Amino acid sequence: MQPEFNQFNLSPAVKKGLESLGFKTPTPIQQHAIPLVLEGRDAILQAKTGSGKTLAFGLPILSMLTPKSKPQALIVLPTRELAIQVREALASVSAQSPLRMVAIYGGVGLGPQEKALHDGVDVVIGTPGRLKDLINRQSLDLSRAHLLVLDEADEMLDMGFRRDIEFLLGKLPARKQTLILSATMPEAIKVIAHKYLDNPAIVGLVEAESTPSEISHHYVRVPSDRRLDALTTLIRSESPDRSIIFTRMKHETKRLAQKLERIMGYEVGFLNGNMSQNARNRMMERFRSGEIHTLIATDVAARGLDIEGLTHVFHFAVPTVVENYIHRSGRTGRAGKEGKTICLVTPDDTDAFRAILKRVPSVEISITLPERTEPPETLDGPREPRESRRPASPPRARQAETRQAEDWKKFKLSLPKLQDPSEENLRRWLVQRTGVPANAIRSIALHPDHAVVEVAARNSDRFKQAIQGPRTPQNHSSATPSKDTQARGPRAQGRR
Ligand code: ADP
Ligand code: MG
Repeated sequence: MQPEFNQFNLSPAVKKGLESLGFKTPTPIQQHAIPLVLEGRDAILQAKTGSGKTLAFGLPILSMLTPKSKPQALIVLPTRELAIQVREALASVSAQSPLRMVAIYGGVGLGPQEKALHDGVDVVIGTPGRLKDLINRQSLDLSRAHLLVLDEADEMLDMGFRRDIEFLLGKLPARKQTLILSATMPEAIKVIAHKYLDNPAIVGLVEAESTPSEISHHYVRVPSDRRLDALTTLIRSESPDRSIIFTRMKHETKRLAQKLERIMGYEVGFLNGNMSQNARNRMMERFRSGEIHTLIATDVAARGLDIEGLTHVFHFAVPTVVENYIHRSGRTGRAGKEGKTICLVTPDDTDAFRAILKRVPSVEISITLPERTEPPETLDGPREPRESRRPASPPRARQAETRQAEDWKKFKLSLPKLQDPSEENLRRWLVQRTGVPANAIRSIALHPDHAVVEVAARNSDRFKQAIQGPRTPQNHSSATPSKDTQARGPRAQGRR
């Protein structure tokens, strides 16, 4: 679904303005910001330069105002050029409306600006120094300005305008809507936001400057008690190079990591706000260095993470707050790389996910769930009713470990080209490639040009087929087994 400006409740004058400019499709930051601003929320909107931030706040603000005698909206920005440019941009979409605007900046005479203010304006767009001068001269009265925009906030703070901004904040009414726009999110902005904003919505389309990125959004409908199976199926089909799996509950991160580890056969990290800062740093270090490829995390713990080469974000649990979805997803698709995010949506999540779909178009994908690898069990706290638990019986995976009578088959395969062809890496590769559980591979004997792998008989057909059968084309890159290995493919010969 291509987003359109028509989907928003913008005023007819603004819609006409957009038409005359020929703008039909909102940019991503506009898509996220417009409904929030129209709702009256305070917000921090972060997106790179050139992403359309001006209209992201301009369109909804212009839609909400009707002409009055005193300034209703104040837009503060760091330079004269910007004051002029933003005034022009707003004027061009509101040519049809009677709203009056003035650009206020230093380096020119006070006269014309004072006259404009005296004659009455609705929107004041200005730099901090000159705004302050005019307030001190009592030419500018902001007591009715219930909308405040701090545009290019990072620049303003860099230029040392913090005190001026706080002075201006004191001149506006206490009840107001405040929007902070910025290309980056330095600590100083967070401090200001914390002090002056009321429960702000945070939209962070975080990405490096001038390197456009691509995040493709997908979702899968899944029964409540099959999320783990859905997750492992997705991991196998996607072969993520590096991924974060988001959950809601702190306690769940470790349990899910352990379960996943047992099924996939490789180490899975976890991160939650209960861990000491040291433990978190250590875990992050191991994730960053590539020692761990998969991390289970809560929203809070993953805030602000910037991990190079993160190919996938999985939402194991749908976040209840839309911003969290955006924030989670923004961990991937950074610095010009493609990223994929996949959300597991259970019937209980339908409403929460509908709210997300309204803001972020997402494509449904369907998967075929494997046989149960785990008994249905509460993985995400109290969301699932107790009745859904099965009578206690050991998980299948464990049965395989403990049963001595299990039949095993040996396969000889030519070695795939792995960066580090250790037994552990080959096991990881085979599990991803074939979809058999890690504990269905009993032993791997490495030889110079081949390996002998012992596979549980009940999984041997699947194993053989996956190794020999044609590989379904996938449009993403998977790193561990290198591309040329996939093309070549190891041959498997079954032998008793
Ligand atoms: P920034 O995010 O740096 O503040 P701007 O708001 O100045 O970026 O927008 C950058 C350019 O994109 C401007 O020339 C603007 O006219 C154009 N633009 C903004 N929104 C749209 C849109 N929805 N469709 C097409 N062009 C747009
Ligand atoms: Mg801008």
